Amino acid sequence: MKRRVLLVVCDGLGDRPIDELSGQTPLQAASKKNLDWFADRGATGLLDLISPGIRPGSDTAHLALFGYDPFTVYTGRGPFEAAGVGMEMRPGDVALRCNFATVGEDGLLVDRRAGRIKEGTDQIARDLDGMVLEDVRVRFKEGTEHRAALMLRGDGLDPRITDGDPHDIGAPVPPVRATVPEAERTASVVNEFMARAKDVLADHPVNLDRARQDLPPANVILPRGAGRFPDIPLLGDRWGLRFAAIAGVTLIRGICRSVGMELLEVRGATGGLDTDMKAKMEAAVKALNEYDVVVVHVKAPDIAAHDGQPKLKVEVIGRIDDSLSVVRQSFKEDWILGLTADHSTPCETGDHSGDPVPLLVYGAGVRRDQTTTFDESAAAAGGWGRLRGVDLMPLLLDLANRTTKFGA
Ligand code: ZN
Ligand code: ZN
Repeated sequence: MKRRVLLVVCDGLGDRPIDELSGQTPLQAASKKNLDWFADRGATGLLDLISPGIRPGSDTAHLALFGYDPFTVYTGRGPFEAAGVGMEMRPGDVALRCNFATVGEDGLLVDRRAGRIKEGTDQIARDLDGMVLEDVRVRFKEGTEHRAALMLRGDGLDPRITDGDPHDIGAPVPPVRATVPEAERTASVVNEFMARAKDVLADHPVNLDRARQDLPPANVILPRGAGRFPDIPLLGDRWGLRFAAIAGVTLIRGICRSVGMELLEVRGATGGLDTDMKAKMEAAVKALNEYDVVVVHVKAPDIAAHDGQPKLKVEVIGRIDDSLSVVRQSFKEDWILGLTADHSTPCETGDHSGDPVPLLVYGAGVRRDQTTTFDESAAAAGGWGRLRGVDLMPLLLDLANRTTKFGA
């Protein structure tokens, strides 16, 4: 029987024992009857997203989860951010992620996020989009809040340039510099863009409006994380299957788009703590009628952990578990459920760690193991043992009877 795969990625789910939770991890402390139900009837294990002890970014980890070797495919965050805001990119294009920011009259950085500007960035972006500088076509598009993406298309571009972002308040905005001679032209184009942007922003109506409301103006663009858009073999071509994704976060949307997944829009899916998880699961379940593989990304556990809030992370995991009742109740014989994380984010450090993440696989055809609960410690005794992130997609597709034989 050909099966369909639902892969749920809980961002930053893995954690470490926390005193405040009596030595439990947030996943252990959470109410999770559905996760435990699936774990009891399926099999669990541990996943090293990149390799043991390597702290993955969400981007490199997702590439691995989708079956790509991040060391060959990953070229920096910029291209995926740009794809995530909807830019059409081609292999060879260079992209950077940007912030709308505020500098004072002395030219020193006052606010890296221009007061977390929300309104008017689309108007500003329209006025900065479409320049041609030194024969390079420059595209600019706003993202969520203070974020944006800058894309360069032309001959001889090279992403090996420094950031045009001081990263620290009170510092001047540095010019972008080439770190190799081949990138001189790229650096010069980005610098020219930054200068022109500053002129456009100086008396932009959106900023005049902000001044009236006593809000910090978005009077400078800070580009960083330059990368070349990679020549990625698309998932559909590789497996001959239809892939869809539900994700609210720009970066993850960009990765999903770049590997050829169809992005499904769900009302209430924000990529924040307030995201409507049930709506996402309902949409995923529905999408399984049409697609062979559906990926659902939930950002919330990572946000709670970056903020160092174990109790919030426990609550968020409880909500994920709750939303999984949608999947459990409608589970079909020809479905395979995979649920895991893209990395651990221990509340202790407030950042990603190399700790392996728990993996759960459930469905007809899955060899049931001895584990009856889903958490980091139980998964260490699970039937899948310890796997690499890049192995997950082939493993799930094999359980779905969708892979081709190697040899005769
Ligand atoms: Zn992540
Ligand atoms: Zn994170």
